[in-house]
Amino acid sequence: MEKDSYQQVSGPKYECLLFDVDDTLYPLSSGISPEVTKNIAEYMVTKLGIDQTNVTEMAVQLYKDYGTTMAGLRAIGYDFDYDDYHSFVHGQLPYELLKSDPVLRNLLHSLPIKKVIFSNANEAHVVKVISRLGLEDCFEGVICFETLNPTHNSSVQNDDDVSQLPKTPVICKPFEEAFEKAFKIAEINPEKTLFFDDSIRNLKTAKTTGLHTVWVGSSHRTTGVDHALESIHNVREALPELWEEAIVASDVPYSGKTAIETSVRA
Ligand SMILES: [Mg+2]
Repeated sequence: MEKDSYQQVSGPKYECLLFDVDDTLYPLSSGISPEVTKNIAEYMVTKLGIDQTNVTEMAVQLYKDYGTTMAGLRAIGYDFDYDDYHSFVHGQLPYELLKSDPVLRNLLHSLPIKKVIFSNANEAHVVKVISRLGLEDCFEGVICFETLNPTHNSSVQNDDDVSQLPKTPVICKPFEEAFEKAFKIAEINPEKTLFFDDSIRNLKTAKTTGLHTVWVGSSHRTTGVDHALESIHNVREALPELWEEAIVASDVPYSGKTAIETSVRA
């Protein structure tokens, strides 16, 4: 009874679920990730003329320092066409490795909460992955590379201090600026949003912005991590309160329910 009263006054704990895509909505074991790494290394050698012997270590280091290898390459002085980079890195991926995931689709559909994608990848890749997984009708919005970087900036935009490293003009997770931009565009209140990602670094920034965090692909909770799931399929066991809230929301005649029903009919 007390819980119901609280729900009516302050609304549900979560109003939005925010999802990374790669290695979050599908498992690392799918085999897509090593193909991306291979293509990035090939791009660095053939298009940017970087020495083959250093390329793998360099790509990994830039990824660790900047969230994406692309953002790192821009930081250390390389410039290139973003569409060319993305089509080289993602264009030839073996997307057939990704299979339709009706279990995840049902889980997402059983939650009457706004769901938004937040990925550093380009739109074509996100659309392809979501469609391979059979999740096209599960999300209300997509924040991706093009949303965060609508123009090709030649100067540095962010002021985040990544220790003493040179700064990148690319806006992407884990930079706080990327999160703030995503909140504005998708009209998200981080205090009422649950964020799912496989990158611990992204989760650590996420936590400082006020988001509630779920580490996907690991069962260990650590600093910056509120919940940890081996697989996104475990979400119901790990976060039963999401479904309990959904039941409360449909039982209690408060304004949120009307809004959901209206949008479904429209
Ligand atoms: Mg990821």
